[in-house]
Amino acid sequence: MVDAAKITRLLAKVVGPERVSDKDFDLIPYSRDLSPARQKLPTHVVLPQSKEEIQGILRIANQENVPVYVRAGGTSHWDAYLAQEPGIMLDMSRMNRILYINERDLVVTIQPNCTWAKLDRELRKHGLTYLCSEAGGPAMTVGGSVMKAGAGPHSTAKFGCHGDQDVITLEMVLPNGDIVQTGSAAWPSAGKFERQCLGPDLAGMFIGAEGILGICTELTMRIRPATDFKERLIAVMPSLDSVIEFGHFINRNVGDEYLQGIYLWVDPNAPDVFTLMMDIFGYEAEIVEHRKKKLSEEVKKLGGSLGDRGPADDYFGHILTGLTDIFATGVWHFFGAGTLRIDDIKFVYDVWRTELLQKRGYRKAGFGGQVLPRRWLAFMVTNYHEPGDWDELVRMAHEIDEIILAGPVIPYGIGGRDGLRDIVASHDTGYYRLLKTLKRTLDPKNILQRGIFIPEEELQ
Ligand SMILES: Cc1cc2nc3c(=O)[nH]c(=O)nc-3n(C[C@H](O)[C@H](O)[C@H](O)COP(=O)(O)OP(=O)(O)OC[C@H]3O[C@@H](n4cnc5c(N)ncnc54)[C@H](O)[C@@H]3O)c2cc1C
Repeated sequence: MVDAAKITRLLAKVVGPERVSDKDFDLIPYSRDLSPARQKLPTHVVLPQSKEEIQGILRIANQENVPVYVRAGGTSHWDAYLAQEPGIMLDMSRMNRILYINERDLVVTIQPNCTWAKLDRELRKHGLTYLCSEAGGPAMTVGGSVMKAGAGPHSTAKFGCHGDQDVITLEMVLPNGDIVQTGSAAWPSAGKFERQCLGPDLAGMFIGAEGILGICTELTMRIRPATDFKERLIAVMPSLDSVIEFGHFINRNVGDEYLQGIYLWVDPNAPDVFTLMMDIFGYEAEIVEHRKKKLSEEVKKLGGSLGDRGPADDYFGHILTGLTDIFATGVWHFFGAGTLRIDDIKFVYDVWRTELLQKRGYRKAGFGGQVLPRRWLAFMVTNYHEPGDWDELVRMAHEIDEIILAGPVIPYGIGGRDGLRDIVASHDTGYYRLLKTLKRTLDPKNILQRGIFIPEEELQ
């Protein structure tokens, strides 16, 4: 049982009384996320401003055996930060500064809660950009994206997930309060320019860990000169096979040079119509024009046709500012999602079509995909309204997730008990055993994100 008043007093000594609360009124906004996960009320919310304050909070948490949960922009969909047990919610929103734009080495150092929108706005003032982002709108943060290993529709065909190559160094506060750096930042006389140095890639250990191994307090990310030229295409392809061949064309014939983003969409009411939206940009008009020509020729060769680019402009143009009418028909819920080999997108499509549309008669979820270098990210997405839709939606999504993950699909976005956590735990893999060993070693009291990613009983 948490002694709420005592914890409040202790936390107030670290951050001051105005940045900690145990009042229901302040806690309720932190009890839900964008998924249909059940409500989970934390006992406290605290807004740290520095790594030293986070260090102090974690020391109190260890001493009092109270779990700590970490919320960035709060736009993830899979029970990824909700308090699985009574505990302290860290609202990271105060740690949102851009610390240093290094125009010579093309890296930027930021605090984790800098939003993608703010980062891009600032970089463009210097003729620079990041160019790789998710579709979560203006609230999503760089730290939140990296800690859950995100990848969006914009520019991912070339650059992949944020964590693939763009994270250079991280500063993390470990569950015991130690502050550590990865990559070249770990060698104080060197600077922040290199991810892989001093041996193993320890940044990789934190990317996608959903905060269970440490709290990120600083990131250095790769940036790029802003591109001046862009083109967008929309193609309607005649079959999934032609989409797959197009995916191979991107990866095999032209490498990942031709195209920075490609988004596949199939509407549940027209499951044989495969729409591809493409985002092409570059530094020279001739090159962009050449890429557009090659892609258009390939679409036609595969039996597809090109359409009005308006929807692609709308889509790719609003990635950072929020997609138009995004919540008009309800809140998005992703399920049946993960990465897979290009040919295996057929597997997820078949599950969507037979299990969801035909057997269950559920016609509210579309099928989508994004090309990553040499692989796809596939997903199903529906819109829900509370509260009537929930039971049906959650049961159906869970069934589909189990089928998908028994196939050739790697999950991402694991989350807590209302996410994919228990499905992942039921697959006793060497990977999962290693993760549990790391968690036990770094966090013997299971303070950080208790119940997220790994069920508590798995750590006993
Ligand atoms: C409309 C819509 C579209 C979306 N499209 C995409 C998409 O295309 N691709 C995609 O990958 N996602 C997508 N998302 C999901 C989500 O927006 C992104 O994953 C987003 O980047 C998460 O950032 P956040 O700041 O909201 O993180 P949060 O949701 O607050 O946190 C995400 C995870 O990171 C952990 N965390 C946060 N900060 C820290 C920290 N400092 N240290 C350690 N752990 C931390 C949290 O505990 C949680 O587990 C979409 C969401 C919406 C609403």
